[in-house]
Amino acid sequence: MIISGTKQRPLCPVHGAAFVEQPGRHRPYLRCGAAFHGKRCDLTAARSPHDRLWRVNDQATARARRGAHLAFDQLWKAGIMRRWNAYAWLARTLGLSRAECHIAHLDEAACLRVAAECAAVNRAAERAGFLGASK
Ligand SMILES: [Zn+2]
Repeated sequence: MIISGTKQRPLCPVHGAAFVEQPGRHRPYLRCGAAFHGKRCDLTAARSPHDRLWRVNDQATARARRGAHLAFDQLWKAGIMRRWNAYAWLARTLGLSRAECHIAHLDEAACLRVAAECAAVNRAAERAGFLGASK
């Protein structure tokens, strides 16, 4: 459910290469250095601002995480829940403490679940005729 992190910047578990910044781009993550030397590697490393730990992610996880964030952000951006309440609801739904509950720390399966749970709430709010106030 939660991807464990490391204090030290990790090496690519497949290639043993250091994760490096992509030249000429500002990205919130680092790519496997081997990917710049002809190797196929979609793994990235990112340091969480929440616990300052590094985590390695593949593209499927990154995609699922973007989907989870979009669906989750809709809950509070549409005014269905206040942002703090939305995080409290998400933590309860996943069985995590509020401190543990960060989408950036979740694995692919958990991110897919977050997207599905949030979509269900968004649909229910829509069915109930909730218009929401965009903030
Ligand atoms: Zn690699």
